[in-house]
Amino acid sequence: MILEGSCRCGAVRFSCDSHTPQPFMLCYCSICRKTAGGGGYAINLGADARTLKIEDPDNAIAVYRAEILDDDGLCEVSTGQRNFCSRCATALWLYDPTWPELVHPFSSAIDSELPVPPSRVHLMLKFKPGWVVPRVEPGDATFELYPEQSIEDWHKSKGLWID
Ligand SMILES: [Zn+2]
Repeated sequence: MILEGSCRCGAVRFSCDSHTPQPFMLCYCSICRKTAGGGGYAINLGADARTLKIEDPDNAIAVYRAEILDDDGLCEVSTGQRNFCSRCATALWLYDPTWPELVHPFSSAIDSELPVPPSRVHLMLKFKPGWVVPRVEPGDATFELYPEQSIEDWHKSKGLWID
């Protein structure tokens, strides 16, 4: 499935091919929540990085790399590159060179009609503030930190992988 996306002001348009277009992965970590998730979480999709096409004639795209405290209390800069529009602040996609074959568009930036997932995964719940009460429905899975399945594994286990 081809995902077409854009920022709010129109400076940036992009598209990519995805085998995994279900918007099921709700991340409540402070980075996703503060940069892209006013409802308490952001939803990351998975797509094929080699197919990412970007239209950005005014060079509006900027990249944010978050600083993260590791388990020893040391500050490191995340390898994740959060691409956003510097004109209108729309969060566009996350790219992490650790997994160079993947790009993770934020579902909020996608203009294509996305499927409605049969269930959802709520992750990084350890980092959510108290006022955020996840709507956990039957069939949903919840994780304090990372989930057991990758976006690809989840789609395949549900028969939702698109060739
Ligand atoms: Zn914009």
